[in-house]
Amino acid sequence: MFSLYASEWRRLLEGFDAAPRAALVRVAQSHNEILAQHFYRVMLKDEAAAGMLSHEQVHTRLMASMRQWILQVLGAQPEDDLEALVAHQIKIGEVHARIDVPVHVVLRGARSLKEGLRAVLQQEAVAGQYQVMQLASTVIDHAMELMSQGYVVSRDSNSRTQEAYRLFTMTQNLATVREQRRAELLDWENQCLYLHAMGAQSQPLSNLTTSDFGLWFRHKGVDVFHGAPACQSILEAMERIDTELLPALMKAKGPAVAAPLMQLREQARHIAMSLEGLFAQNTELDAGRDVLTQLLNRKFLPVVLTKEVQYARQSASVFSIVSVDIDHFKKVNDQYGHEGGDMVLQQAATVLGNNIRGGDYLFRLGGEEFLLVLVDTSSHGAASVAEKLRAQIEREVFHLPQNQHCSITISAGIATFDGHPDYQRILRQSDEALYRAKAEGRNRVVIA
Ligand code: GH3
Ligand code: MG
Ligand code: MG
Repeated sequence: MFSLYASEWRRLLEGFDAAPRAALVRVAQSHNEILAQHFYRVMLKDEAAAGMLSHEQVHTRLMASMRQWILQVLGAQPEDDLEALVAHQIKIGEVHARIDVPVHVVLRGARSLKEGLRAVLQQEAVAGQYQVMQLASTVIDHAMELMSQGYVVSRDSNSRTQEAYRLFTMTQNLATVREQRRAELLDWENQCLYLHAMGAQSQPLSNLTTSDFGLWFRHKGVDVFHGAPACQSILEAMERIDTELLPALMKAKGPAVAAPLMQLREQARHIAMSLEGLFAQNTELDAGRDVLTQLLNRKFLPVVLTKEVQYARQSASVFSIVSVDIDHFKKVNDQYGHEGGDMVLQQAATVLGNNIRGGDYLFRLGGEEFLLVLVDTSSHGAASVAEKLRAQIEREVFHLPQNQHCSITISAGIATFDGHPDYQRILRQSDEALYRAKAEGRNRVVIA
């Protein structure tokens, strides 16, 4: 997949003589530390960048990875594994997107690196400086291009998921909404036809636009499906019904009723079908909920964690996450069957959900693994929540088929936001803590 970019990189390198290539390798080897320091100094002057880099972990790791990057990118030769190098640049771009590094900061970093390099070449009076600098510029630009590609793709899918999440929280359960709206539209149509058949012409037929269905569609439906062409066509059909067909129907007598009546049905059908189409296209919105437990599933974890990291950074608050795993769950399945296991999972989800606050998040990551995001909660607070959950689960009687019962325990690992912008880190930490809780005997809570 990356072979095209790799051969492009190779072609760029082969456009230069061996002498400047060798000179650049030497400079990268002897000066990577100075160059990384220069890069870091310049970045700290930028307010947006300084916020990101202030974390000590970022500092130490960034220095190390910057030096590594200088060695790899400036030192790359045509015979190297350029495909791996390409993949690495794209990955860096993805990380930038995830931790929200603005593009201009990355570009400034590249520029400052070139400036630093130019100074080194002059100072050291490197032979053929001009060629060496050309080569360095070319490879840095190429690496930047690859990074932007990783950045853009990742950004794009982030914002699509974010959008889906917005709709998801707004519409709650799309399947229910869909049924309700379908019923409302049918209600309106039935009522309209009924009144007409009863000869109630003296009484005006109720408009679709102001019916329950019409109100929902104009205020919320249009938002939920925003941008879809079918929305416009539904609005037009409603308008046509209200301004044209209903008045015609009221006026018509005898056999002349047939024409507006048929058109009315046709338009109502058209609305129902368009709406079906809109819901069908948007079923992926529902895919954020786990079928068995109705909890959030993995899909929205990045959105929620990105949001919480941003919030914590802006408001100087912290949040904690708790990784939960049921102990020896295989035994439950073995003893009571998969169906019994499923019942236990559902009840465990209910217990967990009932013991956290409305602002917290509860995910089922898969199998018998859950994840809690406790907003505005220190590690101390998280420890007491987790301990409460652990005790509650231990006490709980779990119901099984055929009036059987069982009890279970859980292990939990806690990690608390420490200012690091990449949420993968806190996930890793809580996972490691959970692993330790298992190793230390299960049915316990461990803080990372
Ligand atoms: P421990 O975590 O304490 O190390 O032991 P465990 O037995 O819970 O370990 P493991 O994670 O290996 O096993 C989890 C089991 O959960 C494996 C799988 O059969 C079962 N499982 C996963 N998903 C489901 C599900 O949706 N329903 C049911 N009934 N069982 C599931
Ligand atoms: Mg388990
Ligand atoms: Mg497990």
